[in-house]
Amino acid sequence: MFPQDLPDRWHSGQGLWSDIPAESWNDWHWQLRNRLTSLKDLEARMTLTPEERAGCLFAPGKLALAVTPHFFNLIDRDDPACPIRRQVIPRIEESVLSPGETPDPVGEDGDSPVPGIVHRYPDRVLFLVTDRCAAYCRYCTRSRLVSNAQQYDFHPDLEAGLGYIAAHPGVRDVLISGGDPLLLSDEKLDKLLGRLRAIPHLEVIRIGSRIPVFLPQRVTPALADILRRHGPVWVNIHTNHPRECTAELAAACERLALAGVPLGNQSVLLQGVNDDAETLRSLTHRLLRMRVRPYYLYACDLIEGSGHLRVPVARGVDLIRSLRGHTTGFAVPQYVIDAPGGGGKIPVNPEYVEAVREGWVQLRNYEDRPFRYPSGEARPSPLPAQEA
Ligand SMILES: *Cc1c(COP(=O)(O)O)cnc(C)c1O
Ligand code: SF4
Repeated sequence: MFPQDLPDRWHSGQGLWSDIPAESWNDWHWQLRNRLTSLKDLEARMTLTPEERAGCLFAPGKLALAVTPHFFNLIDRDDPACPIRRQVIPRIEESVLSPGETPDPVGEDGDSPVPGIVHRYPDRVLFLVTDRCAAYCRYCTRSRLVSNAQQYDFHPDLEAGLGYIAAHPGVRDVLISGGDPLLLSDEKLDKLLGRLRAIPHLEVIRIGSRIPVFLPQRVTPALADILRRHGPVWVNIHTNHPRECTAELAAACERLALAGVPLGNQSVLLQGVNDDAETLRSLTHRLLRMRVRPYYLYACDLIEGSGHLRVPVARGVDLIRSLRGHTTGFAVPQYVIDAPGGGGKIPVNPEYVEAVREGWVQLRNYEDRPFRYPSGEARPSPLPAQEA
């Protein structure tokens, strides 16, 4: 159905919903109302593999199934290994528990002083404002609470969160997340951002959202204007594969960028989705063309039933090595492991320093050629004649 390499900024359009009036298609409420949320919905539009079929029956007790029509159109229905379908269509492997997997893989509940706030780092907090998303990623770190399939009954308490931030002058940065904060109505978002802006010690407001990717229709001029008025508000989107970089997403990013919103991207390194150099390179280049700077590439957290999506850490390091130096420096995301048990994000880098010896730092460049630089701590020993 799809050519292997889709052009940059391809119009995914209405696809399977071409009989719908354009104004319905472009209405984000229509997209939400018409999400595919059950085995029956999916099977009416595509043939599932036995693993997916069983996964759809297992999913409702773990993490709700939902795919927006916009995102569903990005799936190659003829390809069982399609990298888009692997992200949102459940598979029976989700029922397999691998060693170390837990409901709260990065220990957020342990660092939560009030419901909805995770305060782990000295100067910034995570503020969870909803447990709903436009569509659900099968590898979601917050599967325990997102969509409420596990009856976690997360009740975001905006007043408690705002009160906590206001009472802690050390908090200079808030990351609004969830769930997806851009699912809030314009009125709610406007009010929330206004309340946050009124806190004098709060310098940075940022939003983590996959809405521009799942539901670009939500990024209306009115939404962009709200972010502009309370700006600077930073937005991190979440793409994993170059096929997600549609003309619709590019237009949404442009509306945000022109409203003064600095854009970043977070990806999760996922087996069968983006675990090869060509895919990652293509993704980062497409992001830059949309004014989006790659920020983090996450190792997949130890979420229950995610073993089939995890990529060996050494492979992740090799993938970063394949980017660094070979392309634009700011196209290269920081590969991180969010440490189990609440250690926070820890960068994992290829090693370019081989040794520090006799006053010299021994380096390898991106082409694997050796170089030296004085370490600056002691007087360097004379270079051997052949290197001088
Ligand atoms: C990721 C995260 C942040 C933000 O981290 P940055 O490295 O500054 O992007 C803040 N708090 C928590 C709990 C987080 O998980
Ligand atoms: S959009 Fe984010 S919060 Fe929502 S399911 Fe995906 S990873 Fe989880």
